[in-house]
Amino acid sequence: MRRIKKSGINIMRFDNLNEHTVYAIGGISLLVSHIAYLAIFSILSVKPMIYYNIFSVTFYICMLILLYKSHYRKRLVLATLVEVMVHSCLGCYTMGWDMGFGTMLLFLIPIPFYLPLRKLITPYLFSLIPFALYVVIAALVKFRNPSAELYTFKDPTINNIVYYINISFAALILLYISSIYMFSRELMRFKLTNKNESLKKLATIDPLTQLFNRRAMNEYLKLVQHNCERSGKGYAVCIGDIDDFKKVNDKHGHSVGDEVLRQIATVIAQTVPAEGYAARWGGEEFLFIIPNADASCGAEFSEKIREDIYKKNFKSDNGNFRVTMTVGVCRGNPGDDIEKVISLADKHLYQGKQTGKNKTVT
Ligand code: GH3
Ligand code: MG
Ligand code: MG
Repeated sequence: MRRIKKSGINIMRFDNLNEHTVYAIGGISLLVSHIAYLAIFSILSVKPMIYYNIFSVTFYICMLILLYKSHYRKRLVLATLVEVMVHSCLGCYTMGWDMGFGTMLLFLIPIPFYLPLRKLITPYLFSLIPFALYVVIAALVKFRNPSAELYTFKDPTINNIVYYINISFAALILLYISSIYMFSRELMRFKLTNKNESLKKLATIDPLTQLFNRRAMNEYLKLVQHNCERSGKGYAVCIGDIDDFKKVNDKHGHSVGDEVLRQIATVIAQTVPAEGYAARWGGEEFLFIIPNADASCGAEFSEKIREDIYKKNFKSDNGNFRVTMTVGVCRGNPGDDIEKVISLADKHLYQGKQTGKNKTVT
C-alpha cells in the first residue's frame, strides 16, 4: 500500500474488441441481410423490391467503405436508420401491410435514445419520425382498397415467411444499435475510471519518490487514529531524516540527490509492512506509521531501514558515497492526539541529530 494500487480496470475487453469492429459487424450484417432480401425477392419476382434492395446493397457497401475512410460513424448510424425507414415504407407500400414492414418502423422508435444527442428533447423528436410514419403508412396501406395492392401472394406461407424475416431483421437492427450503445458506454466508463485514477494519483502521490505526499498521509493518519480507538491497539510513528543531505547535493549535484531520495523511498516502501503507510513528509524527511505496533516494533522497522540505507553504495562522477538516516520513533495509544505523537517522534529525531546522527531514537 505504500505505492499506488493499480485499479481493477478491465482492459481486456478493449483489447479484444474495438469500436471499429462493432460498427463493421453491424454494417456487414446489414449488407448480408439485404443480399438475402435481394435473393428472396428475385425468387419471388417482386421487381420493385429487387430495385430497392439493389439500392440498399449499394448503400451498405458504400457505408462499409466510408466506415474505414471517414470519422463519421455516428452519422453513418443515422443514415442507416433513414435507409431502414425508407425501405420499410416502400416495403409497406409495395407488399401491403401483412408482411411486417410496418412493424419494422416500431422497432426503430427506441433507437434515438441510444444515440449521443446533445439535447434531451432530441431523441423524443427523432423517435416521433418512425412512429408518425407507422401511423401514416398504416392509414395509407392497411386501409386502402384491397384491389390497389401491388403484390399479393396467393400462398399465405410466403406472406408468413416474409413477415418473420422482416421481424427478425428489425430485431437484428435493434441488437446492432444496442451493442454500439453498450460499447460507447463501456468505453466512456473506462476513460473516466482512467482519468479519475490519474487525478487521484496526482493528488496523493509524490512524483519523485512515488510515496504518499504529506496531504494524503494526513488522511491516513486520521484513519490510523480512528482504527486505534476502535481496536484499542496502539501504533508506532517513525520520522526519518537523511543526514547531511545538503552536502550530498552540494558535492554530487541535485539530480544525484534526487536519485538518493528515490532509492531511499524504495527501501522504506519495501520494509514498511502491508498494513502501514509511508510518505515523503518533507524535502528529505520521511514519515512512516505502523498500526498495531509498540515503540520497539517501530524501532525494529526503523533500524532495518536505517541499516539498509547505510548498506547502499551510491555512485556519482565525484566518487562513490554512502548516506545515513536518523529516525525518531514514538508510540501512539488510543486517546492520544496523533499530532502530539508526531511532534514527540520529531523530538526524538532531533535528539538523534544532536547526538551523532545515523541512529534510531525511541
Ligand atoms: P541534517 O543532517 O541536519 O538533516 O542536515 P541536512 O543537510 O540533511 O539538512 P538541511 O535541512 O540543512 O538540508 C536539507 C537539504 O535537502 C536541503 C535541500 O536542498 C535538500 N532537498 C530537499 N528536497 C530535495 C529534493 O527534492 N531533491 C534534492 N536533490 N534535494 C532536496
Ligand atoms: Mg537532513
Ligand atoms: Mg530535514
